[in-house]
Amino acid sequence: MIIDILSLFPAYFRGPFDVSMLMRARENGLIEIRHTDIRDFSEDKHKRVDARPFGGGPGMVLQVEPVVKAIRSARGPKSHLVFLSPQGTPLKAAKCEELAKREHLILLCGHYEGIDERVIQMEVDEEISIGDYVLTSGCPAAIVLIDAISRFIPGVVGHPEAVQQDSFQQGGMFDAPHYTRPEEFEGFKVPEVLLNGNHAKIKKWRDEEALRKTGRVRPELLK
Ligand code: SAM
Repeated sequence: MIIDILSLFPAYFRGPFDVSMLMRARENGLIEIRHTDIRDFSEDKHKRVDARPFGGGPGMVLQVEPVVKAIRSARGPKSHLVFLSPQGTPLKAAKCEELAKREHLILLCGHYEGIDERVIQMEVDEEISIGDYVLTSGCPAAIVLIDAISRFIPGVVGHPEAVQQDSFQQGGMFDAPHYTRPEEFEGFKVPEVLLNGNHAKIKKWRDEEALRKTGRVRPELLK
């Protein structure tokens, strides 16, 4: 999969894709991440890409022309353009799984008060939000989206069955609790059932625990 990130801060992305699974996915050619600086498409001699909002109000707005030019420089026949926005559809695991099947994603990161609405009308395929709060820019949202998508790309996670056991996969419930060595720590013990090697009992216990926590924390997931 090729992912183009269009932003004002390509430097923001130094680090998250250079460690662990995402680094290996890039090294193994499973994901290619490319960066475009929207400022490179400014016609302004100071490379400005923002202006005051029509109608007044606080803050600045990313201008339509450099953003559209940046998008068109990245577009190909198989591109799907996602604008990261608090006004988008809330991100869910099913959407990550769906996007993981795309060949080419373009992620547009807004900044300031937002982006000229005409960019959305003209170029955007879908708007995605990573939660009901407002970030300073779309950059952290792009990192979250790429990380969550990558887990559904075959080969990125070493044990593919682990992804299917994760939260939101099995009937939409949470994953079961995990324990590892030691068997006891400061008086807190690993549940006995996990130590007896009875796989049927272990599965039953894990299913019950997952159901219990999901019902307590996120009852709406059980509907
Ligand atoms: N004025 C906008 C509003 O209230 O809807 C918020 C603009 S925000 C300060 C700047 C940029 O951050 C947005 O254009 C978007 O790209 C990104 N952003 C902020 N919150 C986000 C969220 N929850 N999910 C995804 N992107 C977000």
